[in-house]
This record gives sequence, C-alpha cells and structure tokens, in this order.
Amino acid sequence: MSELYEVNLSSSFKEFSRETKFLVGGSLGRLARFFRIMGYDTLYEENKEERDLAKHSRAEGRIIITKAQDIAMKALGESLGIIKLSSKVTDFNTQLALVSKCGVIIETHQKNYRCTDCNSELQFYKKEDIEKMSLKKLIPEQSWEINDRFYYCKQCNKM
Ligand SMILES: [Zn+2]
Repeated sequence: MSELYEVNLSSSFKEFSRETKFLVGGSLGRLARFFRIMGYDTLYEENKEERDLAKHSRAEGRIIITKAQDIAMKALGESLGIIKLSSKVTDFNTQLALVSKCGVIIETHQKNYRCTDCNSELQFYKKEDIEKMSLKKLIPEQSWEINDRFYYCKQCNKM
C-alpha cells in the first residue's frame, strides 16, 4: 500500500464499473467535476458532516473519495467503501492517477454525460430540437455556430 493513497472496499463491493457511484469530499472539487464529465454519478460534499457522508455512502452504495483522515477512519469503522488520498496530493493529475491505480475506470464516455454543477443527467439535443424548444437563447453565438449537438441540464437550465 502506497503512502499516497489507501483503498478499502466493503465486502459486498464487486468491482469498479461505469455504474459505480461516488461521493467526493471537500478539497477534491476538480476531481468531482471530472468524474461527472466521465459520466459517473458523483456527489460532491464540500462541508458535510461525517455522519451524512456515511449515510449517503451506505444508502446508495457510493465509494467515498476523501483526503480527510477523520472521514476515512469513520468509513473504515463502518466498513464503507473508501479511497483515501494523502493530503499531500494537491495536483489534479496525480489525484486522477491514484484513483486509477485503485481500480476506478478513467475514461470519458460519449454517452451518459452529467452536469458538472449538479450531477443531473444531461439531455442531448440537436440544433433543430433546440430551435423548436426556443432554448437557443441559452447558447452563446460562437458555440452555436461551431457545434451540431448540445447538452442541456434541466436542473440548472443550462446548455
Ligand atoms: Zn445542472
């Protein structure tokens, strides 16, 4: 086991797949956003209490990724799936490399995109759909000209 990361998965956990859900703790915001871009169902909890993290992890089978020692200890005590990164690892690419070592599949998907802000699944629209639904106002002129397809978040009302 490396001193830069520790991984402990609960006994019921089988293997990492594209369906694996995550719960990413504070100070790993960029990692959380990237997980959503990759299509993973990812909650990002910046300032949550330890017990709330544990609750989400248990109820939804989410793997916790954190740098916080207290959260890691709590998760271990409750046999929750966890990847603990060393607090020394501040570089995003290193964080990504480490979670990859733990078994997480690091790959961007072409389908099943999620909103980087709210984690909702994005709708995919073609230009003609957008004109029909009068959503064009949400798209900057330049972006409209160079793209044929757009992703829309209902929750955030954002393209
Ligand atoms: Zn959203």
